[in-house]
Amino acid sequence: MFWTGELIARSAPIRRRVSIERSPMAERAVAAYIGLAIGDALGATVEFMTPGEIRAQYGLHDEIRGGGWLRLKAGQVTDDTTMALALGEAILAAGHVDAPAAAAAFDAWMRAKPVDIGNTVRRNLITYRQSGNPVAPPSEHDAGNGAVMRLLPAALATYGQTAEQIRAASQAQAHVTHHNTLSDAACETLTFAVHDLLAGKSSRDIEGQRVAPLIADFPVFAYDRKRRDNPSGYVVDTLQAVFQAFFATESFEDCLLDVVNRGGDADTTGAIAGMLAGARYGMAGIPKRWLRALDDFTRVRCEKQAEALLQLACPTA
Ligand code: MN
Ligand code: MN
Repeated sequence: MFWTGELIARSAPIRRRVSIERSPMAERAVAAYIGLAIGDALGATVEFMTPGEIRAQYGLHDEIRGGGWLRLKAGQVTDDTTMALALGEAILAAGHVDAPAAAAAFDAWMRAKPVDIGNTVRRNLITYRQSGNPVAPPSEHDAGNGAVMRLLPAALATYGQTAEQIRAASQAQAHVTHHNTLSDAACETLTFAVHDLLAGKSSRDIEGQRVAPLIADFPVFAYDRKRRDNPSGYVVDTLQAVFQAFFATESFEDCLLDVVNRGGDADTTGAIAGMLAGARYGMAGIPKRWLRALDDFTRVRCEKQAEALLQLACPTA
């Protein structure tokens, strides 16, 4: 009977293995999105803990294990990733970064009862429901990291555009919930940093050409050697911790371990650092154990969106 089986196997339709040949740039875009989700899933376990509490409970927190104050399943992500995915879908549906589409997407996202939601996001989405205006009122107090954590799809969709177009898109998505000068500066800096990393620039280039000008304009972002532990949701604290971790390490894994073990707003520092480190080190740099642990549905959505958004910006990439 052996030969019969072989015959059947041979006559069966050939299933082509779809091998995804990505360009180096598309590879970095995918790694940035997966990096964001991995940083979120890894950091969420220790969000709001102090470094001492993390050490006492885990030693070094280096596995995607779920739990935390949100009692997550291992590999589950939080608002940082799910808001980015909601924004990415809105951008793809509209064909560009569009404030009304982003506001409607965030509102639908909030109605679906996300596992967590920031105060500024909630407040300004409720205002949007009443006013229909996708631009939140300017506020010097709304300097949280909520617009920064979800900027990746807007960054991918604007790759290759003029600086003015990039700034306008960065603000359009940010101002739905965070209409604030420091948040704007952070969003813009990280958007340009992502673009540079997609183009293959180094961490040093980012530090000299993107972060140094940010600090020149807004000295409050300056980060010194003093380790920024327990970073809060204040966009300045968040970026200082992310910059310290990203520029002091030379791998995706080291960068994420450095930043999430500082505790504080660890899912968000993890997400932002994961975005940068993913774009910098590519898929090859992402530890396999973390990739396997990430929720499958989330991983596939991140991959597909990253490819589609880059394709939208840059059909030849
Ligand atoms: Mn979160
Ligand atoms: Mn957070």
